Amino acid sequence: MSKIVAIPIPGGNKTVPVNTGLFINNEFVPSVDGQENITVVNPATEEILCEVSGASAKDIDIAVAAARKAFNTTWGKNVTGFERSKLLNKLADLMERDQQELAELESLDNGKPVRIARDFDIGDTIQCLRYYAGWADKIVGQTIEVDNKTKLAFTRHDPIGVCGQIIPWNYPIGMWGWKVGPALATGCTIVMKPSELTPLTALKLSELVKEAGFPPGVLNTVPSLGGVGGAALAAHPGVDKVAFTGSTITGRKIMEAAAKSNLKKVSLELGGKSPHIVFESADLEQAANWAALGILYNTGQDCTAGSRLFVQDSIYDKFMALLIEKTNQLTISHGFDENAQGGPVVSKTQYDRVWSFIESGKAEGAKVAVGGEKRTTKGFWVDPTIFVDVKPTMKIVREEIFGPVLSVAKFSTEEEAIEWANDTSYGLGAGLHSNDANQCMRVSSALEAGTVWINQYNLLNNNVPFGGKKQSGIGRELGSYALEEYTSVKAVHWNFGEKLSWPF
Ligand code: NAD
Repeated sequence: MSKIVAIPIPGGNKTVPVNTGLFINNEFVPSVDGQENITVVNPATEEILCEVSGASAKDIDIAVAAARKAFNTTWGKNVTGFERSKLLNKLADLMERDQQELAELESLDNGKPVRIARDFDIGDTIQCLRYYAGWADKIVGQTIEVDNKTKLAFTRHDPIGVCGQIIPWNYPIGMWGWKVGPALATGCTIVMKPSELTPLTALKLSELVKEAGFPPGVLNTVPSLGGVGGAALAAHPGVDKVAFTGSTITGRKIMEAAAKSNLKKVSLELGGKSPHIVFESADLEQAANWAALGILYNTGQDCTAGSRLFVQDSIYDKFMALLIEKTNQLTISHGFDENAQGGPVVSKTQYDRVWSFIESGKAEGAKVAVGGEKRTTKGFWVDPTIFVDVKPTMKIVREEIFGPVLSVAKFSTEEEAIEWANDTSYGLGAGLHSNDANQCMRVSSALEAGTVWINQYNLLNNNVPFGGKKQSGIGRELGSYALEEYTSVKAVHWNFGEKLSWPF
């Protein structure tokens, strides 16, 4: 038996029980070889919330075997799309029932405001599950006419099999939903490895998976250190596909491990250093709102964070005054403050990393327009920080920071803005603000990114694909495109009359 821990919710006498074992075959179990436990910390207070079991490579073997068995017996091709749809809808209903409790747990684990976790992260995930529930009985192939009337070919879009899913800490529930929705809709089974920094909601959601009625082994949850359980999943010969969201450096390792083991299918959603351009014809007040949201949403811990802002010189002073005013209006506080728009960063490691970037910006001569000073209280706080007078060679301009740190530069022509925007090895998101329709079309087509926002930023929809170009990733999540990541196309050639003359 594994242990249940009651996590106290601040501001009352409520607790949320969390089962801290590994979730395999619809049961919570301890690690078979007693691997090191994972300590879960509240980033707003630095207090320890609990310890959860960390899966070893042997545990991963057991979880993969459970997922394989389910795929071959109760799931995969043994269940109708209608049934998969019903279960996914049921899971969405249970998440809706527990939305507040899940949000509280997410906030304690990750630091983000409860209000934002509840209304955006979890609200969107419920929709995502329902969106894929809608697809589950619509996974269809084609009937293809071939050479004559005695032959036919058709395609079947089969579930690819056992999927290893490795997710990060910035949107623990959101990234869970993006991966689980299409995998379960297509009939795949899952071994899910949440980030070691934020395992609690994935464990809580596992209880809901069982309650919804998914058969044992369909979804297994194995919190583990990346180099242990994550690496074991990526290299596992019994895994047919690995889906990953996280850093580019880890993405490279996963692709290598997949290539060296069984050439499993890989989808990677990696980092970014996304450009955000404000042209002189833009609605400056709105552009300032979107620019601030673009870098400060989720405390900048967002793969599409608009971290390089380019502002046309003719409107620079006016726009910067607005941007600074908007930034100063935000409340960065603990997650249970209903007025907070942002919380602390997720961990001490991330705190040290973001502050080292801020120090490097100062040392390289960028000017701090907002923030840039540490708080003296406990917690991993980084207040919104805006650097101006940046140079393209500065570290803060070139590398992904994954914190609320913005670099602003002035440009004079459209060509210059495009050239600077594309001067990065990443290609995840990009944004532009302009009221010139021709310019919107020209620039959006020239920007090298998987997603371009025009006169808005950072908003995603479950029915629109998302993914990266260049070193920001491979494959697409969301929309109908994600279904391709979880299916394997089989072509069946059927002869119902042609005789083979012999010798041929
Ligand atoms: P990471 O890539 O190390 O972690 C993401 C996930 O990968 C976690 O579940 C982790 O346990 C797992 N992992 C780590 N090493 C692994 C390995 N060798 N094999 C398989 N899985 C492994 O990211 P991080 O260290 O948590 O954060 C570092 C940086 O990554 C951040 O500062 C940010 O730049 C970037 N990041 C990007 C995203 C994104 O959404 N694109 C999300 C989180 C982090």
